Amino acid sequence: MLPMIARRGVPGHGARVASQLGSSRAVGSIPRLQAQVADVSNGLDQSVLSTSARRDETLTVHPVVNFTPQNCDEFWRKVPLWEKVSAREFISYRWSLYGFLEAVVPEEIPYDEAGTRMQTRSEYIQDVEDGITAATMAIRMTPYILSRINWRDPRHDPILRQFLPLKSVMMPDHPKLTLDSLHEEEDSPVQGLVHRYPDKALFLPTSVCPTYCMFCTRSYAVGANTETVTKASLRPTRRRWEAALAYIESQPGLHDVVVSGGDSYYLNPEHIRDIGERLIGMPNIRRFRFASKGLAVAPGRVLDESDGWVSAVIDVSNKAKRAGKAVAWHTHFNHPNELSWISSAASQKLFEAGVMVRNQTVLLRGVNDDLKTMSALIRGLADNNIFPYYVYQCDMVKSVEHLRTPLQTILDLEAKIRGSIAGFMMPQFVVDLPGGGGKRLACSFESYDRTTGISKYTAPAVTGRNKENRVYEYYDPIDSLPKNAAT
Ligand code: SF4
Repeated sequence: MLPMIARRGVPGHGARVASQLGSSRAVGSIPRLQAQVADVSNGLDQSVLSTSARRDETLTVHPVVNFTPQNCDEFWRKVPLWEKVSAREFISYRWSLYGFLEAVVPEEIPYDEAGTRMQTRSEYIQDVEDGITAATMAIRMTPYILSRINWRDPRHDPILRQFLPLKSVMMPDHPKLTLDSLHEEEDSPVQGLVHRYPDKALFLPTSVCPTYCMFCTRSYAVGANTETVTKASLRPTRRRWEAALAYIESQPGLHDVVVSGGDSYYLNPEHIRDIGERLIGMPNIRRFRFASKGLAVAPGRVLDESDGWVSAVIDVSNKAKRAGKAVAWHTHFNHPNELSWISSAASQKLFEAGVMVRNQTVLLRGVNDDLKTMSALIRGLADNNIFPYYVYQCDMVKSVEHLRTPLQTILDLEAKIRGSIAGFMMPQFVVDLPGGGGKRLACSFESYDRTTGISKYTAPAVTGRNKENRVYEYYDPIDSLPKNAAT
């Protein structure tokens, strides 16, 4: 078994408050929270976590353990940031995320966008707690992302909407939504290695990310278990990696590898070098990419000279070039607010080092599904020399009905944006076909019935596993269908 991924320099590792699902007990008046909650403490302002000076005189934490300050060591108080944190708070799942929300959310926030109705802070936190209970993804955010959010109006913030579920905005799933919409597990000849296209494979060395997106394609495997999903195991073990790499090497027709996860930001620098050099040494492999959302959610790491991740990527990229091969970083910005002077400096460092960076955006309702936002995102990426590679129709995964748009939205955006920016900076607007047909241009449908919301595609180049002549269908969200449209 390999040591778990690198800790040093990865934001968000400060204090994993909740990691063992279902193992919590009711403690005092704190209700049981049945989901993994955030890893948000690292780098937070002290005032956020030092919300209580209370000392618990006695606290029953287990039938055989009665806490008192005399018989139980409050060891966490040695950390200055937590010197005022009580035992009750320290053992609570609520402490990190909910303590943070209590500190940053105003007493009242707008419930609707017009601000005609308000929601209290405690109602909002209850809404989050109910959302976490229903979500398929665990919660994790970095200090960078938390600080890019407009906390005066968190219900409508386009960044928070991606990472924190609110029960009041969630919608019943379309019956065709599944956990593994792209049928990755069916297309995996070895565990954690998806081989769908003839010349390309997707290697999933890990299952963790610096942030967890509520709409993750890989909801079946990424992150910790939630109340609704027991995740498939993609643990980073040398044995599993060896099996995947041996398979890649054994396929003469395989020329292109995506090293993803999870997120390759969670591979330590030695693993980046090991995997990179192994791929460079394979005669059949012509190019590969590291997929990481890190540039969008924790860009400071790129600039941190004490951290070796980026220098490992740069070294691998240069070594690959000398071998006549191409290496790129594929990242994942969804909204212009995710760009800042820190991400600009990080992008410039990568640009100067000759690392190709491409971006893959997911089209999300209430986040980037309007012309102004999507145009600003594409231009912002281009100005940072990040190539806007793909805009994806949101996959048909469970619990994301409120984030999906009808196909017509992506068609309209593509039509309006094309011509407004140089062609080589124009992303491809695509649907990753449910059922494992691979990516197709959204506009290349065989048919699109706007009444039923069903679009049909074929994928002639994707064959095997009974895929010849197969027709793939994408289903618009139920509430967008004409019969359900508000009059
Ligand atoms: S970063 Fe990628 S793999 Fe990780 S949760 Fe988000 S979409 Fe999923």
